[in-house]
Amino acid sequence: MSGMTVREVNEAGPRTVTKSESAFKAAQDVMPGGVNSPVRAFGAVGGTPRFIGKGSGAVVTDVDGNDYTDYVGSWGPMILGHAEERVVAAINKAAARGCSFGAPTEAETRLAELIIARVPSVEMVRLVNSGTEAAMSAVRLARAFTGRDAVVKFEGCYHGHADALLVQAGSGLLTFGTPSSPGVPAGTTGDTFVLPYNDPQAAERLFARHGERIAAVLVEPVAGNMGCVPPRDGFLGYLRGLCDKHEALLVFDEVMTGFRVAPGGAQELFGIEPDLTCMGKVLGGGLPMAAYGGRRDIMERVSPAGPVYQAGTLSGNPLATAAGIATLEALAEENVYETLEARSAKLAHGLADAARHAGVQVTHNRVGSMLCTFFTHRPVTDYASATTSDVRAYARFFHAMLDRGVYLAPSQFECMFVSTAHTDELIESTVAAAAGAFAEVARASTDPIGERMAT
Ligand SMILES: *Cc1c(COP(=O)(O)O)cnc(C)c1O
Repeated sequence: MSGMTVREVNEAGPRTVTKSESAFKAAQDVMPGGVNSPVRAFGAVGGTPRFIGKGSGAVVTDVDGNDYTDYVGSWGPMILGHAEERVVAAINKAAARGCSFGAPTEAETRLAELIIARVPSVEMVRLVNSGTEAAMSAVRLARAFTGRDAVVKFEGCYHGHADALLVQAGSGLLTFGTPSSPGVPAGTTGDTFVLPYNDPQAAERLFARHGERIAAVLVEPVAGNMGCVPPRDGFLGYLRGLCDKHEALLVFDEVMTGFRVAPGGAQELFGIEPDLTCMGKVLGGGLPMAAYGGRRDIMERVSPAGPVYQAGTLSGNPLATAAGIATLEALAEENVYETLEARSAKLAHGLADAARHAGVQVTHNRVGSMLCTFFTHRPVTDYASATTSDVRAYARFFHAMLDRGVYLAPSQFECMFVSTAHTDELIESTVAAAAGAFAEVARASTDPIGERMAT
């Protein structure tokens, strides 16, 4: 990015956000909470959500004209940065030819081939519109294939908002899921078991009792929806073995990790092949696009090849398909993942040093270009340890960074995402901003009167 942006991100102090404030008021009149997806409303950190006017590379600009180095990246998809030339050109070209036909196009086959070439376990794929749809469809397919009803998920893992998967924290071991939203009938989640992440013994015990009822184990191979929580050594392999032994399907939800932590996702990185894989986010390059795929003998049960129904008016949409192809092709260039790794490592080390220097206790978890600063001194390996984080300290840090022109996720339990557009210069200015932000957090914790809590 330009030198101007770097200079601007180094200026500390609250930004003028009057246009965002009035935009938020207008939005709240006509949309629940003023947003179309809850975390955008800044509920966990307080303050005014920034209404974004535009983005370019690693920088987003709000409607008041403030620039921010963006580590949200639309919650993962923008691995090439915003308005990347090749992606924009591909979308424009596709749009000029017509937005949607509801008939097959050759580009869909091209994207499917690119996915299959890259993701080790995927032999056939179905394109859908969101990660929610991918996970919901994978569960239906797994139930149909095995003739069993129960599914297993892990505490703190998110698989979209389909009823059967909208279950979070049981008390841990061997509990049946209880819905985490009103409107989800208990009957719908009654077949969903919830286990602690990274705990092979708990999975072993569950399978010993209920193995013959379990259709699938659904897991984020790197958990990214409780902050970043990597799998312990052997955890994914253990699940693979359990599923084989009990003839259940292993489903990796790689909506976040797919095409991000490695060209072939977490399954390539850890060398474990699931039976089915959910993909999304990076796959659409910022347009609504997701997919589920896997073993040919399983995927051939999907309609119209087989009896398991799943459809979509806009599935394989030409614009989204074009953006996906352009993104995957750009990611195939030399050294992309090496560069992402180097920049992300530099950022994580810089943040850790800055926190140490300010005397703030944090734990950093990182896998490739997904990372998280947890405001806790404990190692974070599961939901229980993630929730030892001081969310008030995070909120303070978040606002101190925003005041310095760095846009982080407005919640402790989300990842930071690094893109190829995050230059070394931008990483350095982010680390410089973090030094100031951690110092503010340290001051607030020793001086409760001076505490600046957003409202
Ligand atoms: C984001 C996400 C989803 C949901 O995808 P949507 O496109 O928001 O429906 C599902 N699973 C994981 C792991 C995700 O990170």
